[in-house]
Amino acid sequence: MELLRQAIRERAVVRPGDVLKVDSFLNHQIDIDLLGEVGREFYQRFKSRGITKVLTIEASGIAIAVATAQYFDVPVVFAKKHQTKNLDGELLSAPVTSFTHGRTYDVTVEKKFLPPEDTVLIVDDFLAKGSALSGLCDIVERAGAKVGGIGIVIEKGFDVGGGLIRARGYDVQSLARIKSMNEGRIVFDDAE
Ligand code: 5GP
Repeated sequence: MELLRQAIRERAVVRPGDVLKVDSFLNHQIDIDLLGEVGREFYQRFKSRGITKVLTIEASGIAIAVATAQYFDVPVVFAKKHQTKNLDGELLSAPVTSFTHGRTYDVTVEKKFLPPEDTVLIVDDFLAKGSALSGLCDIVERAGAKVGGIGIVIEKGFDVGGGLIRARGYDVQSLARIKSMNEGRIVFDDAE
């Protein structure tokens, strides 16, 4: 997706530890024109899959999920990172290790929001080691629902996550795949 690549080239910053800072357009300040295009592109790619729900993980995934779900005209569910008193009923949880913080915590969804008849599109901002996505896939599987597809805004093609999730049989589609970002120079994988 050229608009996204352009935003990454011009506005993203490579930080030590293979962290890409995209807070000027994706996960602190949000470029709503770009976000709308991201949602539209995910819709084009997954519209034939019978999607009934869009699932993501808080916080950065929520805006992306909402922009996408508007095109599908389906609800958004986001997995919560903190157990709160507002979470009651039967819960589905999975451990996730945070790429940016290095901590492992449980992410949780109330079972009533993922009934077995759902076909779920999972979306997130980044795919790196695959922990966040793997947790979300586990939750959908435990709910007895179906993963209809996975949409990622930026995949780090040099990290292990994409291979691990695809090996589980899921269709993962990334709008920008980064081949390398050594010494601050971002190189895209031309396959995307
Ligand atoms: P994974 O679980 O695949 O290792 O990492 C995915 C999660 O970590 C995403 O939900 C995203 O929020 C965060 N993440 C991974 N890599 C980056 C990065 O380079 N920059 C930012 N801003 N977040 C990242």
